[in-house]
Amino acid sequence: MSKFDGKVVIVTGASSGIGRATAELFAKHGACVAITGRNAKSLEETKALAAKAGGKADNVLVIIADVTKEEDTKRIVAETVAKFGKLDVLVNNAGGGTMQGFPDSSFAQPLQVYDYVNNLNARSLISLCQEAIPHLKQTKGNIVNVSSVGSFRPIPSFTYYQMAKAAVDQLNRNLAIALAGDGIRVNNVNPGYVRTNFAANAGAPDAAITMMEEHWVKPNVPLKRGGEPHEMASTILFLASDDASYVTGHLLVADGGASISMPPLPAEFL
Ligand code: NDP
Repeated sequence: MSKFDGKVVIVTGASSGIGRATAELFAKHGACVAITGRNAKSLEETKALAAKAGGKADNVLVIIADVTKEEDTKRIVAETVAKFGKLDVLVNNAGGGTMQGFPDSSFAQPLQVYDYVNNLNARSLISLCQEAIPHLKQTKGNIVNVSSVGSFRPIPSFTYYQMAKAAVDQLNRNLAIALAGDGIRVNNVNPGYVRTNFAANAGAPDAAITMMEEHWVKPNVPLKRGGEPHEMASTILFLASDDASYVTGHLLVADGGASISMPPLPAEFL
């Protein structure tokens, strides 16, 4: 018997990167997985990968949804429960930053940038959790949020993104306390640099991404490389599993040791 046989899991932001790897891994371990994002084509690719990993296409539900829209977050939970009958795990992974107004260490980025990154990375979790909690009470399920080491390692030009992730950390702690009596655990994974479409989707040019990997990440991360999406997926799976049955309100840093040793980004990024 696999670890998540019969369990129902929502993974937001499953059309690429960490979310895609997480959907695949849950499917491999027997879960029925609802995968969400805005990009229908990429979600179908994730569906094919997850169906192959789990062996059953019918165990993967595609929900095209924008998590910044409250009606969409309600639909994500409602359609999942309608299809699979219950909910055991909510993985709040959808997120991202933007290079708009970058680099800017003078703290002059427009408030629209704040609204965008806060809605995407923090506000969306409120509605998703509110919708999911009644169902998680029934199953004594759990929530895993994908935050960032950026919530406690400042990069001034990413201030708003880091503020949003710090809000996720605090939501995590508060929910863990509030829901413990219902048998619901709530935890975070806080990744360091992971090799996904994150930087490109934020608008970083290819040359800047290569430069950052070669001249900042590799020389300075103690493990000498960026993380891979499957390494975040296995960390998320651990927190969602009974192996972590006494873990709640935790921020699990998965960054190759970067946050305990890494120097700040070079001046041209600040
Ligand atoms: P990707 O850009 O590869 O994936 C981001 C995912 O979020 C996509 O599936 C995207 O789907 C989804 N998404 C973005 N905006 C929306 C929206 N408005 N509505 C619904 N879905 C949305 O990046 P990662 O896999 O790296 O990012 C996953 C999480 O990890 C994020 O929360 C990110 O902040 C966090 N993180 C990443 C780090 C890294 O170095 N990669 C470091 C620290 C944290 P679609 O485009 O289809 O909508």
